[in-house]
Amino acid sequence: MARIVQKFGGTSVADIARIKAVAATVKRELDEGHQVCVVLSAMAGVTDQLVGYAADAGGAHYSPEYDTVLATGEQVTAGLLALSLQEMGVESRSWLGWQIPIHTDGVHGRARIEKIEIEGLEQTINEGGVPVIAGFQGLGPDGRVTTLGRGGTDTTAVAVASALGADRCDIYTDVEGVYTTDPRIVANARKLEKITYEEMLEMASLGAKVLQTRAVEMAMKTRQRLHVRSSYSDVPGTLVVDEDEIVEQELVSGIAYSRDEAKITLVQVADKPGIAAAIFGPLTDASINVDMIVQNVSADGQATDLTFTVAKADLDRAVETVEAKKDVLEYADLLSDSNVVKISVIGVGMRSHAGVAQRMFETLAEKGINIQVISTSEIKVSVLIAEEYTELALRALHTAYGLDAE
Ligand code: ASP
Ligand code: MG
Repeated sequence: MARIVQKFGGTSVADIARIKAVAATVKRELDEGHQVCVVLSAMAGVTDQLVGYAADAGGAHYSPEYDTVLATGEQVTAGLLALSLQEMGVESRSWLGWQIPIHTDGVHGRARIEKIEIEGLEQTINEGGVPVIAGFQGLGPDGRVTTLGRGGTDTTAVAVASALGADRCDIYTDVEGVYTTDPRIVANARKLEKITYEEMLEMASLGAKVLQTRAVEMAMKTRQRLHVRSSYSDVPGTLVVDEDEIVEQELVSGIAYSRDEAKITLVQVADKPGIAAAIFGPLTDASINVDMIVQNVSADGQATDLTFTVAKADLDRAVETVEAKKDVLEYADLLSDSNVVKISVIGVGMRSHAGVAQRMFETLAEKGINIQVISTSEIKVSVLIAEEYTELALRALHTAYGLDAE
């Protein structure tokens, strides 16, 4: 007998027919003798609609009332699944975040889970029943409903699985697992059998939307294995696991890309102490995240060029912020470009093997693609290139690292 936490995303509970299919999936595990606890998202599209309502009502983002509105989507699906299970003769009850309670901090709109009181859930499970938990929501220290940030049901599921000491945490979604790269762009992308927490974290934060980044961070901390799988079929998905569970480690496990990048270059900025602080301090104060940074030494000891990247949505504000400091920075020109994409090759295997970056540079060179910025970490090499080459670069790199499906 295993204890299983099952999480179903928005497309898996999009209508009553899909919710009935979820109930059947739950029942299958019960019939095999397992214990099951379910965590649900809102129906696909509902949370977006609720965000729209809150905005139309003039609702300030990230306030208690905003969360009161947003949390309703999950209440509907949790109730409907519990009803469907009861209809099939399965004992079940719905749980809202505040009823359990799932205690969070008070940061509305992106609260963090602090503690889950599991006694009520344990009781239902031990009596053979199925708790159905509304994901994405909790109870703040002010006694108000909080939400965990978009995609937060993944985090609820991992937190509940860890608190209940679950043997498995199955993340049911509308794709079959985690792929080597975006299958919509690279037709022969391969589904990964296993991926490490660290690699998944990089993939998630670089835009592979299968799991919320915070959920992966939490799973890594609590060593909770995850199984990302399809709610439409029974085929095995991708296991997110510890590094030593992977015997044959590929050099590169996946290639991610992000079009959400924009580049700013300060031409001939003074080469003297305090300049970097004078540029990036005001950006930090304006809550603008800077991603890649390159600066060269100056040939004459006087001035050099400095390039950095920010999210596309922040570009205009970033330009204004830097221009406001022109007096101090004394640069000759400021150039900005939003037609760029960041491509990253990711793999824990590169910790122990040289040559990964070189293969990337050679492959891009063969295709005549110019690299504008490079950055590396222990398990990742990223380059910034012109956006029009996204598809070409992804396909060429996918082949070069031997990732193509047979
Ligand atoms: N319904 C919420 C959202 O769309 C939470 C989730 O689905 O994970 O962000
Ligand atoms: Mg999701």
